[in-house]
Amino acid sequence: MPDKTPITVAYGDGIGPEIMRAALRILIEAGAQLELHTIEVGEQVYQRGLSSGIGPEAWESLRHTRLLYKAPITTPLGGGYKSLNVTIRKTLGLYANVRPCESYAPFVNTVHPLMNVVIIRENEEDLYAGIEHQQTREVYQCLKLMSSPGSEKLIRYAFEYARRNNRRKVTCFTKDNIMKLTDGLFHKIFDQVAAEYPGLESEHLIIDIGTAKLADRPEQFDVIVVPNLYGDILSDVAAQLTGSVGLGASANIGQDVAMFEAIHGSAPDIAGQGIANPSGLLLAGVLMLQYIGQPEVAEAVHNAWLTTIEEGIHTADIYMRERSSQKVGTLAFADAVIERLGQRPRRLHPVNYKPSGPPIARSQTVRLATARTKALVGVDVFLDWDEAERDPAQLGQILTEQANTDALQLSMITNRGLKVWPEGLPETFCTDHWRCRFVSAPEGTAIQHSDLIALLNKVKDAGLDFIKTENLYNFDGQPGYSLGQGQ
Ligand code: NAD
Repeated sequence: MPDKTPITVAYGDGIGPEIMRAALRILIEAGAQLELHTIEVGEQVYQRGLSSGIGPEAWESLRHTRLLYKAPITTPLGGGYKSLNVTIRKTLGLYANVRPCESYAPFVNTVHPLMNVVIIRENEEDLYAGIEHQQTREVYQCLKLMSSPGSEKLIRYAFEYARRNNRRKVTCFTKDNIMKLTDGLFHKIFDQVAAEYPGLESEHLIIDIGTAKLADRPEQFDVIVVPNLYGDILSDVAAQLTGSVGLGASANIGQDVAMFEAIHGSAPDIAGQGIANPSGLLLAGVLMLQYIGQPEVAEAVHNAWLTTIEEGIHTADIYMRERSSQKVGTLAFADAVIERLGQRPRRLHPVNYKPSGPPIARSQTVRLATARTKALVGVDVFLDWDEAERDPAQLGQILTEQANTDALQLSMITNRGLKVWPEGLPETFCTDHWRCRFVSAPEGTAIQHSDLIALLNKVKDAGLDFIKTENLYNFDGQPGYSLGQGQ
């Protein structure tokens, strides 16, 4: 018998305590070797004035166990509160969100009976960096930050996950036809890592058509790896397609720390009634048991749960008069699963979990090379400019006459990414936010930071309000910036 694994348990809010008690009872009855450390997170902690919903004792416990089994919490309404989930993910570096989405037809109602997809979502980067600014009266921005090590770690995780779980294909979704640098990086790294796994099929789809195909024929997909924002949306779409969000589980994985939870929220509308479905949290527990190297217990729990479902013993959220045999509450459902420990389902596919070595993330290293040379070759100066009926020709004239220096010359002005100077179209709607590109002369010559400062001084002397700058660099001789107007 393995030693007990210390885990941190959060009972959460709303239905959280009910479903956590039920799930833990099943895991323990099945023989899970767990040493439980309970912490408080969520509503009570927010009310004590801790804006992220988690206190120092909870961090202390997590530092020790490196493992969190968490029931859903209620996020208080109103400003000033930070998302507990985002805080935990970022603080612990939980870079991979793994969400299996499987249909249990005909026992759970779904229009996609053959669906069995795992979504692996990048969890720390992209538009979720939370770096936003209002730059002019009219224009706001949110920075989309994607890193090569962040993308590589996640993509390697997805391929290794597919290999260890006998999956056949990994699909990548991005929008790199538009975001050629950020999403382009993710796609490029996907292709490089895919080449290291010749035994697995790999494909890339543009996120819009990919999502449409997933909604139409999910059985064509197997493992899907995606950047953060797309994954956030896609994983909820995918869970919904299986027929019940109440059955979904997810694992949030970091280098040597992980969090397991149901995908649904705290369901305050049914809290305290004893009718909530504990399945999502229980299946998260199954993922946790695999992670901590107790695959036999994971297999026993999962097969007992599948047997319960196919025998029609259902909580109210998935109950169907014509298919279910019994409508049960949370605790009776847990009892039914416990009674079936040791049984395997006859109509649904039984699971078969084998020891699979140390957690995948522990062995992932960043191996791909990054650029060797970097040269400063220009600057995009962003202006808040609301003069002269917003005539781009006028702005172009001011900048060429008063701001150009020997080192840097105006090459283009865009408004919301569309070129308006030189040779703009009079029909183009212009806001008060202008991107003015200055490039070195002759183009591609390396310049110094002092050249940028000289340029900005001239822009200031021309009476213009520069609100930010973005340096233009060539990396290994290739432009590290988009070429303008959506190219
Ligand atoms: P929700 O998932 O809590 O509920 C949506 C609907 O599904 C409700 O009708 C609910 O009764 C039902 N439902 C959800 N889980 C169920 C279960 N296990 N059994 C039976 N029915 C179930 O979503 P919501 O109402 O939008 O959010 C409620 C609260 O949960 C909010 O404060 C939200 O911020 C929070 N939330 C927390 C997490 C988390 O902690 N990971 C995730 C999502 C939402």
